Amino acid sequence: MSQNILKTLAAIGAAFAMSAGSADAQTYPTRAVTVIVPFAAGGPTDVIARIVGEAMGKTLGQQFIIENVAGAGGTTGIAKGAAATADGYTIMMGHMGTHGAAPALYKNIKYKPDQDFEPIGIAAGTPIVIVGRNNYPAKTLQELVAKLKADGDKANEGHAGVGSVSFTTCTMFNVMAGAKPARVPYTGTGPVINDMLADKLDYACDQIVSVASQVRAGTIRGYAIATDKRSPALPDVPTTTEAGLPDYKVSAWNALFAPKGTPKDVVAKLTDALDKALSDAATRKRLEDLGGVIPEGKERGGAHLASFVKIEMDRWDKAFKAGGVMPN
Ligand code: ASP
Repeated sequence: MSQNILKTLAAIGAAFAMSAGSADAQTYPTRAVTVIVPFAAGGPTDVIARIVGEAMGKTLGQQFIIENVAGAGGTTGIAKGAAATADGYTIMMGHMGTHGAAPALYKNIKYKPDQDFEPIGIAAGTPIVIVGRNNYPAKTLQELVAKLKADGDKANEGHAGVGSVSFTTCTMFNVMAGAKPARVPYTGTGPVINDMLADKLDYACDQIVSVASQVRAGTIRGYAIATDKRSPALPDVPTTTEAGLPDYKVSAWNALFAPKGTPKDVVAKLTDALDKALSDAATRKRLEDLGGVIPEGKERGGAHLASFVKIEMDRWDKAFKAGGVMPN
């Protein structure tokens, strides 16, 4: 074939691919969307993904299917999501750990939180609650701090892996409390709470949404919530200020991301569906009953999330450097 014919064929092919691309975006989604959750089922990231995914699926007319890909503090699942085909059929729920703290803790992390994603939007803020097994002989935060100081590594703490929210926020708590517990890694805080219910773990620092029902039911103890005000979801749990550790204030967040290169109009549809989910009364109630803090106004959408990720990466990088914590 002559060069000219080849060129013409290539041009037709390219034009066809382009029009097919935009038609795809118009009809998106035509099949189920997979949401990678980088932790075990039953933990906060999983719970939030299921709640907003259900509502987004209704808006977009397709199911949102959760795929739990746990490991390495959430970085395994996010690396998988970052490498997925950028067509809007695989997205992921990242959080303050995977997209904020983890890069400062892992030298060989396979993605850059601020470069390798198309941010969709924050799904929920999640205050940290210090929780413990129900029969642990420390009834208040002050008693917990005293006991942990005295017991050293006889006490054990469960977390969701280096770089996860529970790991990062309990690292802070342990430093402030002078605690040096045995730190036990899990694939998520869903299994941490299960082992706490089975009396195998003494305490943890977890996001409110996975502990609120158990604390309300009295099956695990809520020592304190690390916010300025009590949560309406846990009205009986004192703030860290009330409980005597006022400097311990920390809230996490969970947010949806698509892989870099996902078509802009597809990302826009996802952002719009998330926005509608967060304005839907039934979805709001489900999140708020668990203590989730719903982003409002400017806090919604991809542009805000993009700048927020940069701020969080910087914040954790500085915090770990100041604390002499090195990546490994
Ligand atoms: N968000 C994690 C989970 O869903 C836990 C963590 O980061 O601590 O299990």
